[in-house]
Amino acid sequence: MTQYDLIVVGAGPAGMSMATVCAKSGMAVLLLDEQPRPGGQIYRAVTKSRLAESNILKQDYWRGSELAAALKCDNLTYIPYARVWYARPTGDIWFSVADQPEGVSAKHLAIAVGARERPIAVPGWTLPGVFSVGAAQILLKSAGLVADYPVLAGSGPLLYLVASQYLAAGKKIKALLDTTPLSNYHAAIKALPASLFHSQLYKGLRLLRDIRLAGVPVHNGVSDLQIGGSAFVQEVSWKQSGKTHHLDCETVLIHEGLVPNVEFALALGCEWSWSPERVAWEINVSAEGRTSLSSVYAVGDCARIVGADASELQGRLAGLDLVRRATGNQQSELEQSLMRDLNKHMRLRRFLDRLYLPADRNIVMNEPSTVVCRCENVTIETLIPLIESSQGNLDSVKSHSRCGMGPCQGRMCSHSVAALARARGVPACAPSRQRLPLTPITLKELAAVEDSK
Ligand SMILES: Cc1cc2nc3c(=O)[nH]c(=O)nc-3n(C[C@H](O)[C@H](O)[C@H](O)COP(=O)(O)OP(=O)(O)OC[C@H]3O[C@@H](n4cnc5c(N)ncnc54)[C@H](O)[C@@H]3O)c2cc1C
Repeated sequence: MTQYDLIVVGAGPAGMSMATVCAKSGMAVLLLDEQPRPGGQIYRAVTKSRLAESNILKQDYWRGSELAAALKCDNLTYIPYARVWYARPTGDIWFSVADQPEGVSAKHLAIAVGARERPIAVPGWTLPGVFSVGAAQILLKSAGLVADYPVLAGSGPLLYLVASQYLAAGKKIKALLDTTPLSNYHAAIKALPASLFHSQLYKGLRLLRDIRLAGVPVHNGVSDLQIGGSAFVQEVSWKQSGKTHHLDCETVLIHEGLVPNVEFALALGCEWSWSPERVAWEINVSAEGRTSLSSVYAVGDCARIVGADASELQGRLAGLDLVRRATGNQQSELEQSLMRDLNKHMRLRRFLDRLYLPADRNIVMNEPSTVVCRCENVTIETLIPLIESSQGNLDSVKSHSRCGMGPCQGRMCSHSVAALARARGVPACAPSRQRLPLTPITLKELAAVEDSK
């Protein structure tokens, strides 16, 4: 096994910045990512974008080119297409490139595997023609593809960002259904003064203005979203001010915010907590990304949703922290200044978290035949009696229903099951137990591990 000082999993802003800082200080660093190119979610495909000549993805997107260019430095090995499926806190890692496994080892491990969209289980969400907003953006960034005349439904900054990117691409939007509870606006105002001078706040306000000026019909205070159709999407319906509305459409893009990809850190045994402020399981980390395990860092959105700029700052801080641990030096002025910048971002984040706190009824709707686990086709009516007798134990719900036993291993449905439990007053759920391998692997890959030993 090749030995490194640090292995970083995930080449988004957090992973790229931590890997670069450590490599520049002389550490031997390996950076692994399953994607073909560096960038993570926000800077996906930035080094080979089909949209390089256009302004569709806006100025912020191109910051990713600088981070990706910085990876070309001494001591840093970056391997794309590298899907990490086994990791131990001792630093042993197994990953596969084109189904060919390889084992590596390091003194320190940094998890920078980012976030995913919060799964939503509303009637009709499994129909062809329904995408998540993030999936639509992945098509746009990686292939320059856009859906025709979609309805966008949900809540959170990404919903509005993708709406504006669609408009910049010359596409029309049929309607934007905003499910942000109206009470959130009132509650968020208290957190506004602390973030008043943050430039991202004004960028966000400009997005909202541009979408209105483009004539997109925006409906606020939407609830009870349902997507109708037999073989594919034919209509969307919702409630607003006590009335039910219908709209014919063929494509619906849904989104209710992001949740951290905690499974990697959980499988290693890192401590976690449940955040009612962000309705998500999170990994307990210090500001520099140290987890409860001394050899493991968790940086960026995989520990807690902080956004792209803060993820990059956390990556740099984690890198400097690791370098400093080796030397025993005091925190430098640079670190103190980065920490101040990070705190500024976190003040804005508190406002965004409060404004876009999702309502459980928008994450999973109480309609018995709605599918929650699409891998094993488990519906709400099967789950409810099991949840009510589970005392908040997701593993018991899983073993009695098979919900979470399919290829996604609960990454999609566990949030919906937890939302159903909360709505029934069942005590706070622990995330279900994570087992290795972290992603599905083939028997051929396992056999190749044996051969390579
Ligand atoms: C679909 C989607 C779209 C988004 N678009 C935007 C946007 O346009 N603008 C914005 O401001 N924010 C966006 N965000 C939020 C954004 O992800 C971040 O705030 C930022 O990218 C977080 O950086 P990160 O480095 O923590 O993680 P990420 O950028 O998510 O990078 C994580 C990386 O880890 C890799 N990875 C994960 N698991 C493994 C594994 N097992 N093996 C190997 N590699 C692995 C992934 O391939 C990915 O490249 C988006 C989020 C999502 C989910």
